[in-house]
Amino acid sequence: MKEQDNLAENQFIVHEELPLPKESQAEARKNKQLICDNLELILGNSDKVINTPEFFHISHEWSYIGSNWVGVRYIPLGVLLLLWQKGLCIDQCPNCSGEIYIFRAGGFVLSGWYRYEAICPSCREIVIGSRNTGLALLIKPAFNLYRSNLQRKKLLRTRGPRFSWSKGVVGEKIPDKFLEDVVKPVNLEKLIYVLKK
Ligand SMILES: [Zn+2]
Repeated sequence: MKEQDNLAENQFIVHEELPLPKESQAEARKNKQLICDNLELILGNSDKVINTPEFFHISHEWSYIGSNWVGVRYIPLGVLLLLWQKGLCIDQCPNCSGEIYIFRAGGFVLSGWYRYEAICPSCREIVIGSRNTGLALLIKPAFNLYRSNLQRKKLLRTRGPRFSWSKGVVGEKIPDKFLEDVVKPVNLEKLIYVLKK
């Protein structure tokens, strides 16, 4: 039996994604630097971050992977860690030759060219770079991990007021009923505070 079969005629189920936190440019810069300064700590605690939903789902508007053709997915910290554990989204630092960790990549799927932003945990700096091939190799696992870890609120919505030509607006607005909520991620400061304890 389908979920919809149990509902009244004016009711339906809605799935909503949690909106990304709004950040000013200054806040985004501060948060990127916070990740830069603490990436070794975060990498050293990968399993803890991956297994704690409040940490896993930390997302930012500046962390995404995508292309003009297939669109863009915002990549939460947990998915980044899973990609990095697979050796994906990693390049070499032009300054210290160490590994840098890509958190944002965009380009063209067909040619494979992409531009990226990455963190060098040794230099504690953001590195901007590009590669001539391989975007599709990042997009596929990134999108799959994004999809399988996507959390969405489940709401029961009841159609409320309607417009009638004779009576105007009829009926009261009926608030949505929560069926399943989602985990609200903590902010980076909280994450780092907990990992340092
Ligand atoms: Zn470096």
